[in-house]
Amino acid sequence: MTDNAASHLRTDSPSLRFIPLGGVGTFGMNCATLEWGREFVVVDAGIKIPQGNFPGVDLFLPDFTYILENRHRLKGIVVTHGHDDHIGALPFLLDKVDVPVYGTAFALALIRERLLNGSESGKKPDLRQILFGSPFKVGEALVEAVPVDHSIPDSASLIFRTPAGVVVHTGDFRIPGGVPGPALEPLRAAGKEGVDLLVCDSTNADNPGVAPSESEVARTLDDRFRQAPGRVFLVTFASHIMRISAAIGAAKASGRKVILQGKRIVRNFEIASRLGYLQVPEGVLSSPESVSPEEEAGAVYILTGSQGEPFSALSRIARGEHSGIGVRRGDTVIFSSRMIPGNELAVGLMIDSLFRMGATVYYKDPPRVHVSGHGYAGEILSMIDLTAPRHLVPVHGDFRNLMACAGLAEAGGMGPDSIHILDPGEVLQICGEEATRPGNVPSGRILVDGEMMIGLADPVLGQRRRMAREGVVVVAFSPPVPGTKLKEPVVHSLGVGVGSQGEELDLEAAAEIRRVLVEENAEKASEEDLEEHLRLAVRKVYRKALDKRPTVLTVVLRP
Ligand SMILES: [Zn+2]
Ligand SMILES: [Zn+2]
Repeated sequence: MTDNAASHLRTDSPSLRFIPLGGVGTFGMNCATLEWGREFVVVDAGIKIPQGNFPGVDLFLPDFTYILENRHRLKGIVVTHGHDDHIGALPFLLDKVDVPVYGTAFALALIRERLLNGSESGKKPDLRQILFGSPFKVGEALVEAVPVDHSIPDSASLIFRTPAGVVVHTGDFRIPGGVPGPALEPLRAAGKEGVDLLVCDSTNADNPGVAPSESEVARTLDDRFRQAPGRVFLVTFASHIMRISAAIGAAKASGRKVILQGKRIVRNFEIASRLGYLQVPEGVLSSPESVSPEEEAGAVYILTGSQGEPFSALSRIARGEHSGIGVRRGDTVIFSSRMIPGNELAVGLMIDSLFRMGATVYYKDPPRVHVSGHGYAGEILSMIDLTAPRHLVPVHGDFRNLMACAGLAEAGGMGPDSIHILDPGEVLQICGEEATRPGNVPSGRILVDGEMMIGLADPVLGQRRRMAREGVVVVAFSPPVPGTKLKEPVVHSLGVGVGSQGEELDLEAAAEIRRVLVEENAEKASEEDLEEHLRLAVRKVYRKALDKRPTVLTVVLRP
């Protein structure tokens, strides 16, 4: 974590300040602060699932240093919707700050679920439900939630009317067909009043036109379900209630039973049914325990694991390691989800093995088995048009997506000085027409491994990568004692050599230790120097033979 002047910027000016702490230049970890004078709110607190070489790391969190250093000014946390990249980090943040969390009913239900599993302090969080059409105060700001179309129920764009100006945060959104419906009228009204800043979802800014409609997917599912000769495995995200609902409808139409597979999907399904977001026709749902063999032969399994997560039900099925379900010839697998960039390899391997098992796998359009929950260029333009902002900050995207969103805004008539692509931690300060970037606050990623928090600079990750790459050698030895016989050193390597060659090298390394202890005045050296000397000598054995540089651990045995 770094500290610098910007975290102590003057906070008594009436200007608006927006600081993204994640979600810019990367997908995930959506989190930002919005400030007016002395007060501020946090908008969203999401996680990112690690991709790449982060052995043992479960998830990434945004660095909350700035929020924690300024917690005395924090008035609340407002979330746009219940996806993990927007609420997943809340259990960690709520362990450290005591402020109300505002969210719509479905988002709050998912947050409650997360807090049950995640919070350690046992504190009861102050969760306050947002109702569309009922503005509420957070500090001196009046906040209004506007319902927007997205891949999870109850998604909101937020209008913040603050003493320092009006800000619209789109959250994740789609404007079906690119034509704003009556539900978006509050955004138009804000635009007429004058929006100082629009914070805009950029996910699909580089896709021209408008996103295809969800009903196309429903039609495809209907067709596929009717034509499939055997069972159907529909793979989607656990939170994609609309897709699950469409699949249940298609199953009913083709006379199939539905079996929900996986804890998370079952929980989300229960929450969505309880809150009335899902109407399930009588007699469609079944379970692995109650389904008859005849029904099972044509069942629709709805399950997660679309990103190749190694312990998901689908991965285990594809590896033939699932205790209850095996894919067989005649089965159909439909990936009704997008492949998150970075997961191509794992997903590709899984798709290959499903094909090998005899399944027909649909993982690409056409036919349309998935549509994005994020608006394309035409929909983003429509949002900019609707809100007519003075300033724009593109968020929710890799750098190229943010650039594409900026390009759209410029094509739509905004001046380049009004469009601000920010780095995580970069402060945007707006005073009337004028926008400045006075500096940066601490930002970055915190790595979560079980109960542990790891900073990016912490050596543990480097040690893990090195052990994975080069292997480990454990050396146990007794320092020589004058007048007594030398105890034989023992060497054991892990993940270094292969078969008997590895064993021979371990013996060779042991002989080398013996030689050092006997020949090189070992009695006179300090124990520290001796251990370092032995580590180098042992590493040399493996380096010469295998060109490996294993981590060498020494254990001193006392008589
Ligand atoms: Zn979302
Ligand atoms: Zn999102």
